[in-house]
Amino acid sequence: MTPEERYRPLFEPLRIGPVVAPNRFYQVPHCTGMGHVLPQTLAAMRGVKAEGGWGVVCTEYCSIHPSSDDQPHPFASLWDDGDVRNLALMAERVHEHGSLAGAELWHGGSYVPNLASRVPPIGVRSMPSRNDPVQSRRMDRRDIRLLREWHRAAALRARDAGFDIVYVYPAHGYLLSEFLSRTLNGRSDEYGGSLENRVRLVRELIEDTRDAVGDRCAVAVRFSADGHGDEHMSAAEAHDAIGLLAELPDLWDFVVADYYGEEMAGSRFLPEASLETKVAAVRKLTTKPVVSVGRFTSPDTMLRQLKSGVLDFVGAARPSIADPFLPAKIREGRYEDIRECIGCNFCYAHNYRGAAVRCTQNPTMGEEWRKGWHPEKIPAGSGGSVLVVGAGPAGLEAAMSLGRRGYDVSLAEASGEPGGRVARESRLPGLAEWGRVRDYRVGQIRRMANVALYFESPLGVAEVREFGADHVLVATGARWRADGRGRTAPGGIAGLDAERVCTPDDLMAGARPAGRVVVYDDDNYYMGPVLAQLLARHGAEVTYVTTSSHAGYWSEYTGERPATHAALLADGVRVVLNRALARYADRNAEFACVYSAELMALEADRLVLVTSREPNDALYRELAGENPDGSEGSVRAIGDCAQPALIAHAVYAGHEAARELGGVIPAGFARDRLVR
Ligand code: ADP
Ligand code: SF4
Repeated sequence: MTPEERYRPLFEPLRIGPVVAPNRFYQVPHCTGMGHVLPQTLAAMRGVKAEGGWGVVCTEYCSIHPSSDDQPHPFASLWDDGDVRNLALMAERVHEHGSLAGAELWHGGSYVPNLASRVPPIGVRSMPSRNDPVQSRRMDRRDIRLLREWHRAAALRARDAGFDIVYVYPAHGYLLSEFLSRTLNGRSDEYGGSLENRVRLVRELIEDTRDAVGDRCAVAVRFSADGHGDEHMSAAEAHDAIGLLAELPDLWDFVVADYYGEEMAGSRFLPEASLETKVAAVRKLTTKPVVSVGRFTSPDTMLRQLKSGVLDFVGAARPSIADPFLPAKIREGRYEDIRECIGCNFCYAHNYRGAAVRCTQNPTMGEEWRKGWHPEKIPAGSGGSVLVVGAGPAGLEAAMSLGRRGYDVSLAEASGEPGGRVARESRLPGLAEWGRVRDYRVGQIRRMANVALYFESPLGVAEVREFGADHVLVATGARWRADGRGRTAPGGIAGLDAERVCTPDDLMAGARPAGRVVVYDDDNYYMGPVLAQLLARHGAEVTYVTTSSHAGYWSEYTGERPATHAALLADGVRVVLNRALARYADRNAEFACVYSAELMALEADRLVLVTSREPNDALYRELAGENPDGSEGSVRAIGDCAQPALIAHAVYAGHEAARELGGVIPAGFARDRLVR
């Protein structure tokens, strides 16, 4: 059987109610940080996914009414005709490639504070919003009637905008989940009490939607396969509820109760296809097509989902962000070209931060409209030779992209392996999949005749000059500081016992301090917690101390904060919050409370400092200094050597430098405006 025949089931069309999906690749609703704010950016990004072969491409959560407003997160909306015009852009871009467009109608209920609309939130009963000091207003019969009218009107707007699939969304803790919950729904009317009553509103919305748009649009339901936690809806009850509604929708989109810990867990915590057992349990309750997710990147895993009958559509959010052309690559047998998602959740962090989605693996994500970047196409260059110094993520991405532009590229790496920080970090607990950043790029480069990769080649100014390339990109990375300098101590920390201090670089190079070890985190993302786990697993007695109020604070935005803290506890690490390092001498570390300055002492045989990094920019500065007018000339610093940041930033910088080489660096870029 040829590979094309083997994967053919993934490319068979399938009917969903009144519409037909061209294949089994289904981009489920996922947030983008674009929503109602950046309509052209959104349309271009979703259109590229359809171009790459996703047979169904959905919106993010799409509010039906101003009483459901998730500001500052840029949700989509279908409140009025202006929204119809904006979202019609997306549907058009998706249709241009023969794919179906889906709209996920959403009401946030008590969860949202309605910061922008200032409408009091409504809920099945009055209860606190997720984060803000406000409570919702209990819905009465009139509110329920109005909700049905809003939902119906939004469904009609979705149809008018050109959407082919319209969702009813009783999941993820939003308004309809409140009605399903045994604990929250204390109503004594026909919407409360028995399961039939708690499901009533969902049933009515499915029927209303079908009645409004069912002749033209499919009706999909997004539902949790294992309930909402036993106090709200047990897995058994969820199965019963699905049974009650089984044949009503045209498609079931199954999710799970634990959104952060399971459904969109990072690769640090869960592998591919982790929802399979739970979805398989509900799949048999309906004859309608089923879609679900599982950070699928392997064509064989996708095929298995279809062949075993668990899924009819392979659902994806993150894998479609990392590689919008994943379906096309499978169809063409180009498996080694697939840019696999690494499960870092950097994409998700940006909806949370109110900014457009971006991706560690795919630097073009979010730049399809603003910069006109395409994930698979890059303009040919003007010719010439380029020397790239350093084969970390910045250097690898730059060399690969320049190779695609036709330049004659030499990539010189000081060490004996490619990947830089990615190679080092992917050997830490839970970060193995991050090595895909290196593997994808090295795999591509090895097949390019015009890109040469040299190891054991530490270059100084003399060697770079001798090389005589037309252009030089310096991607020499950064090193962790050993003096405590960072956010909390911008001038460093005096009196540190340097003999007993380690940095993350020391640990990644193989050092394994034993005994009582304190990991001090003023960086506050993944590095501190992961190193604490590493040392605990090697038998050290580890205390993790952070200047922040949470372990790995920035993991809040990637949805990994609870799992980060739980993992530390599971590995026997003691966690101390809100403490800043004051001094470390005689195996005694003192930490000041960030609020009161009261001191706390910890005995520590070794202290690991995770504070900030220093760019390795000496080579760049010397090369750039040769230009008497202070201009960069043909030398450019990229990645951590210019700006120590995350792997995603280094990849983006490498890509941007490759796109801009030999051309004019744009002074600015287009700003998206509402087009209504
Ligand atoms: P980035 O994230 O910006 O890509 P990394 O630290 O991951 O940075 O990678 C930098 C790479 O550059 C490392 O693999 C390092 O070995 C290499 N490197 C640093 N200095 C030199 C040099 N002078 N010559 C060649 N390679 C270098
Ligand atoms: Fe995957 Fe990370 Fe890209 Fe998100 S940012 S799609 S998790 S590689």
